[in-house]
Amino acid sequence: MAARFQERLKQGPILGDGGYVLELERRCLGSYKTHIPMAVLDHPEGLLELSREFAIAGSEVLQAMTWGVKEFDREAELNRTAVRVAREAAGPDRFVAGTLTAPPGGYHSVRQGETLTDHDRQQLETFYARRIEQQMSVGVDLFMLESAYSVEMAIPAIRPMRAAGVPAVILMTFRESPYTLENYSAAEGAKRLEDAGADVVGLNCNRPFQTMLPLMREIRRAVSVPLCSQPVAYQLEPGEISSQGLTNPGLWTRIEPRLLTRFHYAEYALEAHRIGIDFIGACCGTLPYHVRAMAEALGKPTAMPDIDRGYQRDSEWRTRGI
Ligand SMILES: [Zn+2]
Repeated sequence: MAARFQERLKQGPILGDGGYVLELERRCLGSYKTHIPMAVLDHPEGLLELSREFAIAGSEVLQAMTWGVKEFDREAELNRTAVRVAREAAGPDRFVAGTLTAPPGGYHSVRQGETLTDHDRQQLETFYARRIEQQMSVGVDLFMLESAYSVEMAIPAIRPMRAAGVPAVILMTFRESPYTLENYSAAEGAKRLEDAGADVVGLNCNRPFQTMLPLMREIRRAVSVPLCSQPVAYQLEPGEISSQGLTNPGLWTRIEPRLLTRFHYAEYALEAHRIGIDFIGACCGTLPYHVRAMAEALGKPTAMPDIDRGYQRDSEWRTRGI
């Protein structure tokens, strides 16, 4: 499956899935207050349903809901359950992505301008390798490290991912500042990740497509590996570059009225395709009907068509070169 994913990327854009954490909260299945997505363990049937909805909508890659899991006594069980659920929803025709984040909560953190010691790097690699082993015990087709504010903290994930025999997708994230914690630009960060062996690089979370795609364009010019983008589904407040509501706990529910529409997602998918993004995904707030809008805009199959496909004016898309 690993080689198959790489081959599949060469055949044109592949569609990712949407956001799980906030939607599972909205469905009253679990909050993220403890920095553990307990919905995976408490309501795996609810997670399976949401994953299936993404699959029906057109997602070609389903991610295991193992984002942002802090270390706790049922960590291995959570990681295995999440992969099992994604695998069940994916069936034989879709890819399953294991998901990693840097350890949440402060230790190993790089503060602005600091560099990691060799000891920090080794500890990080050990942390990632453990999560990779937990998810590989069920089996994934690729790994995605998400929400990397620091390139140096992300790089130690690449070796254990590749040692597991699957592609390494490494995604940085930017809030208002377009610089990583090491003061690398998006393009420089992506180049360093490519040089460190990442198979796919890109961005996820914090920014909607309107302010994420300009950075993706810079990354496209800087690297030759395939790209992945996963913007959030929230319209910015006036003057914002990233969705402040997402990054300030306590404000998460405030962004609900600012959900982007299916029309926005059709526009995003087409623009991402035009930039040359190979793996077109999405992050927090993105629902199955958004994925369907992307699938239909790109001419991909969806099991449950939009009620009137009002957003897809075929002649207009054709003139835009799709
Ligand atoms: Zn997100």
